[in-house]
Amino acid sequence: HAKDKGKGRYEVFDASMHNKVQNALRLETDIREGIIQEEFVPHFQPIVRLRDKKIVGFEALARWQSDQRGFVYPSEFIPLAEETNLIMAIDLQILEKSCRQLKLWQDQLQRFDLYVSCNLFSNHFFSHTLPDDIENILTKVGLSPQNLRLELTERALLENTEVVLENMTRLKALGIRILLDDFGTGYSSLSYLHRFPIDVLKIDRSFINNVHEHGNHQAIIKTIVDLATNLQMSTVGEGIENLADAQLLEKMDCVYGQGFYFYKPMPASDLVKFLQA
Ligand code: C2E
Ligand code: MG
Ligand code: MG
Ligand code: MG
Repeated sequence: HAKDKGKGRYEVFDASMHNKVQNALRLETDIREGIIQEEFVPHFQPIVRLRDKKIVGFEALARWQSDQRGFVYPSEFIPLAEETNLIMAIDLQILEKSCRQLKLWQDQLQRFDLYVSCNLFSNHFFSHTLPDDIENILTKVGLSPQNLRLELTERALLENTEVVLENMTRLKALGIRILLDDFGTGYSSLSYLHRFPIDVLKIDRSFINNVHEHGNHQAIIKTIVDLATNLQMSTVGEGIENLADAQLLEKMDCVYGQGFYFYKPMPASDLVKFLQA
């Protein structure tokens, strides 16, 4: 009996493994098709100056309008896209569409002060072609590098230091600013920070969420803001969901903020009315 049971378990295990592999393969095929059909589109979440709540720019966040699957959020396709490196094509598709949209708003609204901030997978920074790829997109779209920011995570700072530094230096020389995303969640050593030409630390939302109720989170945020100030960097607090958190962050000298309390990510067609106001 025990033997039978064991065998049964193996069959169940095999079947569920088989399903997982099948699902991943199907997802990969659909992502490939989605890239070709240009189904990846940016939604935009405004970033505000906390002092006066004025919109200073927005983050581009990938959404997948899939023919097969409908509207898909990043958590459902980014992990596999990273594993398969298909994220490289998605990132550039989002970046180009975002730059094109901002250029359109510049022409329509005469707002040249706004920037768009695009997320890049760390592997981009390990590639010698990154600065040229970005510059070519900007030239094609006709957007000034001053209006583009790039977000990367700490992972990009831990390997291939030489090429990452060279890429950052070249991007900075064009006038592009560089943001370190999800700061505080990554790797404990802060010693690497000053070696890279980073302009902004984005304080991870896990520290911000209900910070007014968590004394230890307040201490961490204050430490990050002071660190940034000492390194001549600026800070953006992510994931601000209520007024109390917004006020506390401002009190701790965090200059910029982003979160559902101010604006949710939205399609370009919805954002335009906030830019006109
Ligand atoms: P992220 O870059 O840290 O982006 C911020 C995430 O926090 C977004 O989730 C945003 O919708 C969410 N968020 C903003 N404000 C709030 C808030 O007040 N409360 C809560 N609970 N969440 C808030 P989203 O759009 O689902 O994106 C998730 C992650 O997927 C991003 O985190 C980023 O790591 C990745 N991602 C999104 N678009 C791209 C892309 O084009 N390329 C790459 N490589 N990664 C992307
Ligand atoms: Mg980001
Ligand atoms: Mg983030
Ligand atoms: Mg994140």
